[in-house]
Amino acid sequence: MGINFFYPEFEVVRNDLRCIRCQVCARQCANEVHFYDEKRDLMLSDESKCVNCQRCVSLCPTRALKIVKSNCRLRENANWDSDTIREVYKQAGSGGVLLSSMGNPKKYPVYWDKILINASQVTNPSIDPLREPMETRVFLGKKPQTLERDEDGKLKCELTPQLELSLPVMFSAMSYGSISYNAHESLARAARELGTYYNTGEGGLHEDFYVYGPNTIVQVASGRFGVHRDYMEAGAAVEIKMGQGAKPGIGGHLPGTKVGADISRTRMIPEGSDAISPAPHHDIYSIEDLRQLVYSIKEATGHKKPVIVKVAAVHNIAAIASGIARSGADIIAIDGFRGGTGAAPTRIRDSVGIPIELALAAVDQRLRDEGIRGNVSLVVGGSIRSSADVVKAIALGADACYIATAALLALGCHLCRTCQSGKCNWGIATQKPELVKRLNPDMGTQRLVNLLTAWNHEIKELMGGMGINSIEALRGNRLMLRGVGLTDAELRILGISHAGE
Ligand code: SF4
Ligand code: SF4
Repeated sequence: MGINFFYPEFEVVRNDLRCIRCQVCARQCANEVHFYDEKRDLMLSDESKCVNCQRCVSLCPTRALKIVKSNCRLRENANWDSDTIREVYKQAGSGGVLLSSMGNPKKYPVYWDKILINASQVTNPSIDPLREPMETRVFLGKKPQTLERDEDGKLKCELTPQLELSLPVMFSAMSYGSISYNAHESLARAARELGTYYNTGEGGLHEDFYVYGPNTIVQVASGRFGVHRDYMEAGAAVEIKMGQGAKPGIGGHLPGTKVGADISRTRMIPEGSDAISPAPHHDIYSIEDLRQLVYSIKEATGHKKPVIVKVAAVHNIAAIASGIARSGADIIAIDGFRGGTGAAPTRIRDSVGIPIELALAAVDQRLRDEGIRGNVSLVVGGSIRSSADVVKAIALGADACYIATAALLALGCHLCRTCQSGKCNWGIATQKPELVKRLNPDMGTQRLVNLLTAWNHEIKELMGGMGINSIEALRGNRLMLRGVGLTDAELRILGISHAGE
């Protein structure tokens, strides 16, 4: 329309005395913000294109740059803040659905920050994890109701296939396409080094990554992209994706611009075509239908691999989980409404679903009440940010956690939240070869291994402080948790007492 309705969100602050005109910033910014004015021998910027990814700031050799949030605000009030007004302007200009990436940024309560962990004092000694054994290994899958042994003490009952994790954390689903080859390689190699798993998401498995199969969870989503027998055979477990926390109720969308030759081959779709997965699985309209798919996958993989069913945390999640636990699935993965995404409609990301903390507590309780908790393991994700969140999740009833945003941060993501543009300056959410090579898989692997090694130490310290020496003893141990500043309804759903009680 020709009218610029708003001042750019970020300002580039350049110290001209420090700037040596090396133009590193211009070469590093895929959004083409910086440019050199030869006549005036000055570096200039088009701030309207800046997404505050901090790449230029980090690489400027003389620290001449700063990106600051503009304090030029629209005329906001308590009802209409600047962001809301901006969004109306954008839609009035484009006529389109607003797209966003990463997790829900709205100010809903983060229950992890309102839950505190217990520590032993005097009567129940704490355990020193540096001097005493501490078990963080976890087995995911259906557990037998009773254990029988023969005269030699060997187990008589047959165990269903299990996933063995050296620590209760796995890398959540991120498809090749939404993230780069180098990001996938880093996740795959880190999972192998750590003794845990990464997840293909709905993008299929690149031929180079079959070698990491024993540490790979392969996903079957509604679009069935890249799904074939060898793919399912390659993984250690198969995950049926029914929903995702960032966009419950809808399918995925990878724009055709990101579907290059490699991705087209891996996903088994034409090059340059949009990869749009349908909202529902067109063969699943009931728990009975889900059961059929679970058993088809088990048949196709010789009953050797656990089957995971992943759902988004929504209002009646406890009843849904109860159905899944009866469907023959071995593991239920629940994704909370803060979970990340490469691209989602903003309104859905910010308004649909429920917090993972409440969903987890409700599901664990329901499965216990119905006597079927042992039928399945529970894995939760959707903004697990630290080892303390992991410990709280396990005490609320989870067997393990999925992380994705934290893993991307370890790889260098600066949460600029523009993954959908495909121009990730950190080489993560992009398919542009010149950007992809910015992420070194050796370094990426090492940083992921460091992150989870550090978390595992902290998990052991937190458990030791509680006087608990295994994840198994922590799981569902809600006596170890107290709430602060929570309502009676929130405490009841979480199944914990208030601090001081
Ligand atoms: S988009 Fe990133 S690299 Fe480009 S100017 Fe902004 S902060 Fe710097
Ligand atoms: S992955 Fe890249 S584009 Fe996405 S939020 Fe992180 S830095 Fe930004």
